[in-house]
Amino acid sequence: MTDTDWNDYSLETQAIRAGHRRTHEDEHSIPIFATSSYVFKSAEEASLRFTGKIAGNIYSRFTNPTVDAFQQRLALMEKGERCLAFASGMAAIMAVGMGLLKAGDHVVCSRGVFGNTVMLFTNYFSKFGVETDFVDLIDTAAWEAAIKPNTRFLFLETPSNPLVEIADIQALADIAHAHDCLLIVDNCFCTPALQKPLELGADIVVHSATKYIDGQGRCVGGAVVASEEIIEKFIFPYLRTGGATMSPFNAWVFLSGLETLAIRMKAHCDSASELAQWLEQQPSVAKVHYAGLPSHAQHELAKRQQSHFGGIVSFELTGGKEAAWRLIDATQMISITANLGDVKTTITHPATTTHGRLTPELRAKAGIKDGLVRISVGLENLDDIKNDLLCGL
Ligand SMILES: *Cc1c(COP(=O)(O)O)cnc(C)c1O
Repeated sequence: MTDTDWNDYSLETQAIRAGHRRTHEDEHSIPIFATSSYVFKSAEEASLRFTGKIAGNIYSRFTNPTVDAFQQRLALMEKGERCLAFASGMAAIMAVGMGLLKAGDHVVCSRGVFGNTVMLFTNYFSKFGVETDFVDLIDTAAWEAAIKPNTRFLFLETPSNPLVEIADIQALADIAHAHDCLLIVDNCFCTPALQKPLELGADIVVHSATKYIDGQGRCVGGAVVASEEIIEKFIFPYLRTGGATMSPFNAWVFLSGLETLAIRMKAHCDSASELAQWLEQQPSVAKVHYAGLPSHAQHELAKRQQSHFGGIVSFELTGGKEAAWRLIDATQMISITANLGDVKTTITHPATTTHGRLTPELRAKAGIKDGLVRISVGLENLDDIKNDLLCGL
């Protein structure tokens, strides 16, 4: 099995079989290598491994067989040359910044990215002389206009959270490359089961494995996928030195998460599509945001770029914040939590949680209305989910 070229297999098969180098114990399931260090046969071998002249494990901050299996598997699924795992999604994004940026550099970032990603650029990278401009995710002309001679990369999530707007990855990759910049895509919402940004021209994919890759809300983790050159030159040296490493236990959980990713994503998407259509029929719902609906502004783009429309649905209630809170509090089964990508359905009020730290003006600019509710559609029976929502609609 060590010699199998998994590139020739489909994503579903890679997700189940790739990455495992069976040991002399002939185990069928990937073991957890709970070891911080590795033993060398001689002083010379130790020296050769440390300098990278021969391959092999050294120290689990940057080499661990269980973590490596996860990395190889996710790299194949994203159609990237190499993947590195991190302690969290934020640690992965941090690594991209630390690896690629220097003082005097500039970043163009979507306004619609994860809140902590905005904080990372505005509160931390800014301290070291990196300037970030934020633009509307779907305004392709604004992306190009924001690029400066010192712009190092463009950073986005598509679909965005919580309004599930869709960016044209291929168009933005072309713009980035025409200006000698890299395009970085946070592929957390779609996962490689629905969308492969590297195939569309992106240079780097980042992940919060915490969400759909785990899929059952157990572990926090992240990953960076890119070419061998980008990983080796910019990301691996930072991981080795910066140390925000994924634990072998978490890698083992994520490996089994990947095994069911494709069938889970299909089920999440099927339920979310049906729920979105149903929500559009409800009198107290003013607007439903879901790229699978023909009413969605980028429905055609989503159809082209993604193999399905994802598991996140958001909608605006006519009754504003009061109605949103009433709906959330009336649910019996659905979990009130900001997490997403779980088999359990979760519900959240973005204006007072994930986007609560924004000023009302910034929130309005981001399109987060007070009556907006976001649902990460889980894998419970869809009728039970609908009935739970009906308690408060
Ligand atoms: C959750 C999330 C992150 C951060 O990941 P953590 O694993 O929580 O650090 C980054 N991007 C997106 C889109 C997310 O949903």
